Amino acid sequence: MGYSAEVRKKSIDIIKERKLTAERQADYRKEKIFSEIPEAEQYERDIASCAIKAGRAVFRGGDVKAELEKLKNESLKLQAELETLLKSKGYTPKDLEPFYTCEKCSDTGYIEKDNRTVMCACLKKVMVETACAELNKNSPLSLCRFEDFSLDYYSKEKSPEYPRSSYEQMCNILEYCKRYATSFTPKSESVFMNGKTGLGKTHLSLAIANEVIQRGFGVIYVSAPTVISKLEKEQFSRNKEDNNTEQTLTECDLLIVDDLGTEFTTQFSSKALYNLFNSRLLLGKPIIINTNLNLKELEDTYTQRFVSRIIGEAHRLDFFGRDVRLLKS
Ligand SMILES: [Zn+2]
Repeated sequence: MGYSAEVRKKSIDIIKERKLTAERQADYRKEKIFSEIPEAEQYERDIASCAIKAGRAVFRGGDVKAELEKLKNESLKLQAELETLLKSKGYTPKDLEPFYTCEKCSDTGYIEKDNRTVMCACLKKVMVETACAELNKNSPLSLCRFEDFSLDYYSKEKSPEYPRSSYEQMCNILEYCKRYATSFTPKSESVFMNGKTGLGKTHLSLAIANEVIQRGFGVIYVSAPTVISKLEKEQFSRNKEDNNTEQTLTECDLLIVDDLGTEFTTQFSSKALYNLFNSRLLLGKPIIINTNLNLKELEDTYTQRFVSRIIGEAHRLDFFGRDVRLLKS
């Protein structure tokens, strides 16, 4: 997956910072241990000197094999003694080494695979997170959590058009959303949230976003008008290097599009949204869409093909009742 130079630089800086921190902390730990057990420092120097001697032996030539064998045994013996010494004071040899966030690449971001240097999974993960954070910059993400969602404003009276009260319906929806977020995987189903404004769609989709981000997945939360303006900008931008919005939107673990139908609809916007959603569906990646439009209005705004393809595959949640925001004020 290609990223903009900015996202790449930011991500590499994050990994570098992890490495520096791990090494700084190791130096600090070492200093403390050596001041407590001064003999340990001498052991460490002797072990290092075995390695230096081995290097010299190879350089000098002669009976290298015998010399290396001898140095290796000496080093192993010293390491075993150091371990015993450390253990007697409640430490292990690992305490002298940095605790890297990623043991695979020692926080360098790269590993050797099939004789090639490739990006480590940890750096890829940071890139996804950074790219998502970039797109989430203006979303009110931190404002809505499941804990703040109140069912108090939903009526317990049975609504004439629906088989249950809006209170009962919201209990089910809340339960579904919590379960969705806590059991989310990048192969989870898509969700279609439908209903008038002020019934909690935005709150619940933000709560899902928060929970799923905290579980370490790459989530993008955007309103439909923002998606369109970003894609439009990308379409007409000359700097191809930084054109990664569409790719990030397509490849993030979860894409949440708020307020579908409130964007200024043009041929470009309908097509761009259809292509984006369709690409995700083809990849088996979930989308959460929420809209105030009913199915008929959606078909009128987009096309029947759009609605049946995009909405048809999603788990549908119908929000009904009276505007909670009005009741609160
Ligand atoms: Zn790594």
